[in-house]
Amino acid sequence: MGSIAEHLAEVRERARVSYYRATGRPGEPRIVCVTKTQPLPRILEAIDAGATEIGENYLQEAVRKDIFALRESRGATIRYIGRLQSNKYHAILRLFDAVDSADCRLFERLDGIEDREDLRARTLLLEVNAGEESQKGGLTVSEIRELAAADTPWLHEISGLMAVVPLQATTQVRTMLYRSISELFHELVSDLGSSRVTLLSMGTSDDYELAIEQGSNMIRIGTGIFGARSPSQV
Ligand SMILES: *Cc1c(COP(=O)(O)O)cnc(C)c1O
Repeated sequence: MGSIAEHLAEVRERARVSYYRATGRPGEPRIVCVTKTQPLPRILEAIDAGATEIGENYLQEAVRKDIFALRESRGATIRYIGRLQSNKYHAILRLFDAVDSADCRLFERLDGIEDREDLRARTLLLEVNAGEESQKGGLTVSEIRELAAADTPWLHEISGLMAVVPLQATTQVRTMLYRSISELFHELVSDLGSSRVTLLSMGTSDDYELAIEQGSNMIRIGTGIFGARSPSQV
């Protein structure tokens, strides 16, 4: 077992290779370091090794760990990637730099907020529930296409998409799902503007190379950096 720094370096290297294979030019997708259940010292280790974007799944946990202090002390960007509950929308929008798991209710709520001065989150990604799993958040690919066809006003607020695919999905199914989300992403880029819609967050420790090859430019890595989470903590 390597160190956090070694793991991060390996993910970065493999991501670069996949990116080159996908695009034919050098570059690297953004790596969101997923820190749920990780104590602060381990998160600091990842930041020392070069992690700049932190993804947290739970508001309380993020507050308890005082993860937001890393913005000032280490220049980290703090992203919310977890399930949303409507009673926490406002707190999440005030505390996090980005909400990658935004749903339509969050955008509708945002529409009603006149004074956005105290909201920090400027980057909002719409979550795509690619496998159409009823227990997961997010909209399906066809639901998002319908919203785009209807020129839904709040769609102009998104900075991109975050995809979740079913845990059990085979490589073949993942490839197909990632490809269809990538197509949707490019449609949104041309509908809404390439300066507005820039981020396609797809791929986790298990499948980030595949996701990058299908067009991902942001991957979310937890166990691939920190090692397995203990089952009681998931
Ligand atoms: C936990 C989590 C990840 C990271 O998954 P790993 O398999 O640990 O890389 C990525 N995205 C979301 C939304 C998560 O909740």
